[in-house]
Amino acid sequence: MESFPNGPRVTARHLRADDDACARRIVNEMRQYRGIHKSKGSNRAFDVAQRIASDVGLAHTELRAAMLSDFPKPHDLSVEECRAYEGAAHGYVTVFPEPFNAVALADSWESVDQDTGNRWIAPVAITGHDSAGTAHVRDIKILNAPATLDQTSLAMIALRTADWATAVVVDAASLLSVDRLQPVLIDSETRDEATQWARMRAARWTGLGPDARPKSGRDCNGCPFVTSCPAHQR
Ligand code: SF4
Repeated sequence: MESFPNGPRVTARHLRADDDACARRIVNEMRQYRGIHKSKGSNRAFDVAQRIASDVGLAHTELRAAMLSDFPKPHDLSVEECRAYEGAAHGYVTVFPEPFNAVALADSWESVDQDTGNRWIAPVAITGHDSAGTAHVRDIKILNAPATLDQTSLAMIALRTADWATAVVVDAASLLSVDRLQPVLIDSETRDEATQWARMRAARWTGLGPDARPKSGRDCNGCPFVTSCPAHQR
């Protein structure tokens, strides 16, 4: 049986996985087999992030800075989620005061690596250009922690902008802590390096295919593949 009939579905989490990760879970996720349940908690965090990204996109349909009035209070989220939404909206208008014009947003992003067959999967990101016409990706996180841009995030952005004709500036920010990093430039050389790095990281798991073995440990928490897992049979 072919291990990945539609090509391995590779996310940032798979690229970050270290030697303690469970290979069976990763390979099953790469096959797009979803198991029996999803984490409600992570979906709710996703809802807030999606709402912020959507309202950011609407705020920047023309070249201008976003304002708090661009972020109307949601009526379909819980009190806790509304608080996160309002905090993120405040963080966004504070850390990104300059004019920006966004291009269309997609709920998620996927592209096929023609050399490896990998399907790179990334969450929504805000892409567009500034008043000088320079292309930007705004990598925002709704976290109460300092802003970060690790090698995996940079690689995913490099992959998702691989067909862009220009270099791109990455602006990473953590909205709840109102923190923004210095801009990082991705040019053709950076893209090549990032692509090679991501292919190498993905190959650690795609090369296992049916030989992927379970490893009980931290990944078992919330694992959707537990019911059929040999490591949990009595
Ligand atoms: S239940 Fe644990 S050991 Fe089994 S596949 Fe999931 S993470 Fe791996």
